[in-house]
Amino acid sequence: MGEVCVRVAVRIRPLLPKEVLHNHQVCVRVVPDSAQVMLGSDRTFSFDHAFGPTASQDQFYESCVKPLVASLVDGYNATVFAYGQTGSGKTYTLCGGHVASLVEEESGIIGQVAADLFVLLGERRAADVRVSYVELYREELRDLLELHTAHRELHIREDDRGNTVVVGARETVITSAEELQSVLEAGNALRHTGPTQMNERSSRSHAIVTVQLTQHNHNDGSVRSSKLHLVDLAGSERAARTGNTGLRLKESVHINTGLLALGNVIRALSDPHRRGNHVPYRDAKITRLLRDSLGGSAHTLMVACVSPSHHNVTETLSVLQFASRAR
Ligand code: ADP
Ligand code: MG
Repeated sequence: MGEVCVRVAVRIRPLLPKEVLHNHQVCVRVVPDSAQVMLGSDRTFSFDHAFGPTASQDQFYESCVKPLVASLVDGYNATVFAYGQTGSGKTYTLCGGHVASLVEEESGIIGQVAADLFVLLGERRAADVRVSYVELYREELRDLLELHTAHRELHIREDDRGNTVVVGARETVITSAEELQSVLEAGNALRHTGPTQMNERSSRSHAIVTVQLTQHNHNDGSVRSSKLHLVDLAGSERAARTGNTGLRLKESVHINTGLLALGNVIRALSDPHRRGNHVPYRDAKITRLLRDSLGGSAHTLMVACVSPSHHNVTETLSVLQFASRAR
């Protein structure tokens, strides 16, 4: 993957049956045989990859994510994050259409990552894979794998080798893709969701799955650690749009802080003249948490998810702008 440390993919989901029923028009398309997306009839945006409504989970995984799994096994850190408004396909892309659809075409990135990882590790017995699953809600970190302590706050520390550690987060050893799936399902049950005017099950927290790989070399006794973060970000829609007030407004402020900080970090990293530039990791917990897996030798994939409906055109424009600035 060479010098490019941040790659950006756009994924346009299909119109949902209820949108078809209500006569929503498609306002955003992939320019054929390109990695460009056209909004309306005159605005074009360029990315590293662009996927239209007919792209399968497999196509998406193979071209964008599979190389990151290979680099994880080679000892590099990586981050995949899904950005976009609520209802745009972030969770679908990461987790799949149906829970536990491991072998089906619907299976999301996470299931495929695990399946692939264990295939790649097949010949390398001396490796262990651990998973943690945390949620960032209103700048507070919670463990989604520890039922009883889900409300105890976790802390982010950096060790002396520059590795980011979430102190107190449970790490579960997994030995198969199926095991990962069941661990994550337990975590999903704890994930914070609540109603907004826009979408009843709108996600207002960031969910971070971390796959930590430790490989032992028996010849020289060395240990190699690397990790892959898979991040389902909170909805990117602005406070005003969802009609939020009070508690909901406070949530929106935190969400915006996190997403803004992430955007600033990505922008600083993708600036070709950045040598020695300040990268503002410390501005939010999401960027502090991902610090050792964003920039440096780490590989980052941003997946910008958008709805095709003309009803969402304003939000889609802002997501496409955010994503194209990240390159
Ligand atoms: P988000 O997590 O961004 O809020 P979801 O992943 O829940 O959005 O997607 C919203 C709806 O769209 C869900 O019903 C989901 O199944 C559907 N959907 C999203 N992306 C696709 C896709 N690529 N193909 C088919 N259905 C999709
Ligand atoms: Mg979601």
